[in-house]
Amino acid sequence: MSDDRSKKAKRLHHTANVIKKQMRIAKAFGLTHLLKQPHRLAKHHALDCGNPKCQVCHSEKVFNKPTFQEKKFIQGHKTDSQNS
Ligand SMILES: [Zn+2]
Repeated sequence: MSDDRSKKAKRLHHTANVIKKQMRIAKAFGLTHLLKQPHRLAKHHALDCGNPKCQVCHSEKVFNKPTFQEKKFIQGHKTDSQNS
C-alpha cells in the first residue's frame, strides 16, 4: 500500500518538474497563453505545435533521422576509437 503511495508521489513530483522546466522555456520565449495555463505543459512541450506528425517539430521521428543527442553520441565514439 505504501509502495503505491510512493509511486504516486514520485509521479506527481516528476510532473511538477516537467511543468517547471517547460514554464522556464515558455517564459524565455514569451508564450503568455501557456503561462496562464501551466498544466497544459504536462504532456506538451512549450515550443511544440501539438501535432504528432508535424514535419517541422518532429522531423527526426517522421523522417527517421538521428537526433542531435544521437549525432553527438556517435561523434564522441568516433573520436574515442581514433585516439585509442
Ligand atoms: Zn509542429
